[in-house]
Amino acid sequence: MVKFGPSGNDDLFYEEGHSSTKEVFEWLKNYGLDLYEYSFGRGILLKDETAVEFSNLAKENDIQITVHAPYFINLANPDDLSIQKSYAYINNSIDKLLLMGGNKCVVHIGSCMKMTREQALGNVANNLKSYMEYFDERYNNDNIFLCPETMGKYQQIGTYKEIIDLCTMHKNLIPTFDFGHINCILQGNLNKDEYRKIIEYSFEKLGEFKTKNMHIHFSKIEFSSKGEVRHLTLDDNNFGPEFEPLAELLINYKIDNATIISESKNIMAQDAKKLKNIFYKNK
Ligand SMILES: [Zn+2]
Repeated sequence: MVKFGPSGNDDLFYEEGHSSTKEVFEWLKNYGLDLYEYSFGRGILLKDETAVEFSNLAKENDIQITVHAPYFINLANPDDLSIQKSYAYINNSIDKLLLMGGNKCVVHIGSCMKMTREQALGNVANNLKSYMEYFDERYNNDNIFLCPETMGKYQQIGTYKEIIDLCTMHKNLIPTFDFGHINCILQGNLNKDEYRKIIEYSFEKLGEFKTKNMHIHFSKIEFSSKGEVRHLTLDDNNFGPEFEPLAELLINYKIDNATIISESKNIMAQDAKKLKNIFYKNK
């Protein structure tokens, strides 16, 4: 079943008098959603016992949890100490993910810094390969996935081809397709044909299981000639992408285990519900 939910807490959740994320799982269930992404973007401050409480509350309310690893991770960095720190950020994120009973950890894989794209991508590939060896030793778990994300700025590593190619390296790597970011890189040209190319490339390189279990970030995003500028909401009329053609393709290609997170500004649960309504009307 394709699942829908927000990244973080919607303004409406707070306006209705809630303040603690412990309350969000029941709130999401009542709102008609079944997925929640917890962001460690600015650091991993969540206590273990709170993570376990989230796990229980999520299970009671049939909410699947995913996490987003810190933004500081950069597997292209030529400095070994920085790489060890990146590995530690990923491990800590996955440790909390397991306590929360979740199964997908989103990660921004790297940035070019002052290197050529080729050098940066080579570093990312080597370091990701080494990391996945640690991952096997540490977790030995077929049910948790590290999910490198397609990125929205040109100096970041993470075109859809780069991400899909990196995900061929290990069975526990599944792509996060952030279609808002992909649309920024394509300067607004993410139409049905482009969506189809991405899906077909994923089937070709990664096969059925990974493609049908893809993680998706969906929001409209403003872009400039440098790429991503800022996240918008679905009712924005100036920037894309549109969800309808993607929904049709997900249904036609039977991508029926995708997890779809809305990262709309401030109203991510309300927009996740809109995406869900578009998807199930199509179905
Ligand atoms: Zn992200």
